[in-house]
Amino acid sequence: MYAKVIVDITHTQVDRVFEYRIPQELHIEPGMRVSVPFGKSKETEGIVIGLAQTPEFPPEKIKPILSALEDFCALTQEQIDLACFIKEKYNTTLASALRFMIPAQLRGGKVGAKTQSIVRLAVSGRALCEAKKAMLKQNGEVRFHRQLEVIERLEKEGALPASALNASAVKSLQRKGIVSTGKEEVSRIPFKQPVGKIEDYTLTDTQQKILDTIRTSDQRSFLLHGVTGSGKTEIYIRVIRDALEQGRTALMLVPEISLTPQTYLFLKQRFTEEIAVFHSGLSAGERYDEWMKVKRGQAKIVLGARSAVFAPLENLGVVIIDEEHETSYKADNYPKYTAHEIAKKRCELSGAILILGSATPQVETYYKARQGEMQILKMPQRLFGLSLPTVEVVDLRAELSKGNRSAISGSLYEALDDTLARGKQAMLFLNRRGYSTFVMCRSCGYVVKCDSCDVTMTYHKSQDMLKCHYCGRTKTPEHICPECGKPHLKYFGVGTQQIEEQLRDLFPQARILRMDLDTTGTKDAHLKIFRQFAAHEADILIGTQMITKGLDFEGVTLSAVLAADTMLNIPDYRSAERTFSHITQIAGRAGRKEAGKVILQTYNPEHYAVQYASRHDYDGFYEYEIRMREMAMLPPFSTYVQIQFSGEENGQVVLAVKEFIRRLKTVLLPHKHDIISIRAAEAAIRRIRNMERYNILIHLKNGEDGLIYSIYQVFNQFHYQNVLTGIDINPVNMA
Ligand code: ADP
Ligand code: ZN
Repeated sequence: MYAKVIVDITHTQVDRVFEYRIPQELHIEPGMRVSVPFGKSKETEGIVIGLAQTPEFPPEKIKPILSALEDFCALTQEQIDLACFIKEKYNTTLASALRFMIPAQLRGGKVGAKTQSIVRLAVSGRALCEAKKAMLKQNGEVRFHRQLEVIERLEKEGALPASALNASAVKSLQRKGIVSTGKEEVSRIPFKQPVGKIEDYTLTDTQQKILDTIRTSDQRSFLLHGVTGSGKTEIYIRVIRDALEQGRTALMLVPEISLTPQTYLFLKQRFTEEIAVFHSGLSAGERYDEWMKVKRGQAKIVLGARSAVFAPLENLGVVIIDEEHETSYKADNYPKYTAHEIAKKRCELSGAILILGSATPQVETYYKARQGEMQILKMPQRLFGLSLPTVEVVDLRAELSKGNRSAISGSLYEALDDTLARGKQAMLFLNRRGYSTFVMCRSCGYVVKCDSCDVTMTYHKSQDMLKCHYCGRTKTPEHICPECGKPHLKYFGVGTQQIEEQLRDLFPQARILRMDLDTTGTKDAHLKIFRQFAAHEADILIGTQMITKGLDFEGVTLSAVLAADTMLNIPDYRSAERTFSHITQIAGRAGRKEAGKVILQTYNPEHYAVQYASRHDYDGFYEYEIRMREMAMLPPFSTYVQIQFSGEENGQVVLAVKEFIRRLKTVLLPHKHDIISIRAAEAAIRRIRNMERYNILIHLKNGEDGLIYSIYQVFNQFHYQNVLTGIDINPVNMA
């Protein structure tokens, strides 16, 4: 017998099947990982994707498999088929497609104990006071900032993973005997504590009808379009229960489970079966454990973020993609797959049903559903007769002419005042962290930019530092302009830190929490903030997009978008759609137990996205938007292919782009009637981390899948020294 093996090397030159002889004593099946000799290497890992009686290669030249790496099949046949699909669809090697389905810990035999280096204070009481004093200079100024910070954080948190602390500061403190480090087993904090079980709710008529439709329909794909608080989760739970009762398994995807452990707790309360969880916050070891749980059949329900779509579930009965409009379902590294597309393929392969759920489905998803690809299920009302919150659109231009330059309008001030007076909670949303979003010279217009990136630096007041949000580089703030020498550098643009400060001034009695990248550095910080807010230990929660995702706080009666325009101004055909969806999601946070109110601050009150969102009118928005897209030939009526170029040398990258265009034109010339345009331009942010960035954007009419493969061909044959390239279909970021 012979085995067809894919070696675990992701290079286009070895992206094909290699044949190996199976020695008598080995039992080998497709899906098993094996060790094989390959080229100069004595042992290379590979995956058996098929068997053959007779080889295609001369038998005397075929080498034997050395050993099986495990005594079980790491992959099912279905996963092998899925990998082949990924290879074709996203133009990648089979080896890299297969890697999605095997935990990194298994590859290279790195499976190890689940430990992490943990730092603790080694002193307490007087000794601790002494240690802290030693961090100061004679005059009381801080001498060792970072060491002091470590001590203070440990005092507050008890113990912290070394990875969350400044390494050299920890080292110095360890030398002085102030802290100790050791390997300790880490627990997935959000998921450890026991939860009580809850009985199934009695379904409402609407819920029952939808469930009946799913159970009896000939269709296998559904789009559950239900407003926020309409009870979609209950449908998911029943469908999962159905699958389990039929002896099948279930997969539920959420945008990012590490941000919303509530979903897990929720499922946990409802199922006695074990649930495996996959998300970006897990260590490699934890990921491996969860994978094994599924592999062994111990967990028949998988809950996770994007990458969970590859979970090794067998006999899959249902895949649910909740909040299907979220951009986090698209991979941000190459190959840039979409969880939707992978899920759809998996469902086809296993005969599972697919449910996409959202209050604001993507325009492209809704269009496909209307075309008959999916059955649309509607839940237009909130449960228990609760109405959607009233939305007040505040014109920030009028606010300016009234002389209010702060980020909080008169209406918002009053609404906050009223909310606090009634003992209720408010959520305020602003998509910019930091204190001031840019620093500019009032005399000459000079703007402080990052040295490595073509972006303005954000001022962070708590650390009194300018930070680049792209590469993390910092600078100390100055007041003298380096360009004209005048002391006119001023701070502009309001970030979340400044909002927090303004609110503390306006409402000194209010308890305020802020949630953004800066306040959520440590592993369980999110959960802590959520818990505090849920327990009503705070009155106002300010946050970036982190706080918009599917959170359900009973006490919130007011939610506000401080600047609805930040998203409208992005040059992307989906900017209106994203604005609409965003506003709707934020509005959905308010009034989930009693009447709520939403304040929408904007400079474009008449924009249709703002208008339809303020009336909770998805269908109206969709009709308008889809007509616009059709007229302008935008997706779903066309397709964009983006090719990204980057390199350290600007000139070289430009030459590469030119050469690519030349080759592209020769190949595409015979198809020019299927091409709307080909454009090359600098990326919106031309330089990030000292890499010069350019894009080619090919706009194709629909229906010509073959053309995409021709572009893939050009792409695969293109190699340019010191220039990196990547390819993406309908990129999440157009600019
Ligand atoms: P959505 O996901 O559509 O925004 P949820 O599924 O979160 O809405 O439902 C809102 C709330 O209503 C949740 O707290 C949920 O537990 C509760 N709920 C859902 N269905 C029922 C029901 N049939 N009876 C009682 N409570 C329900
Ligand atoms: Zn930078």
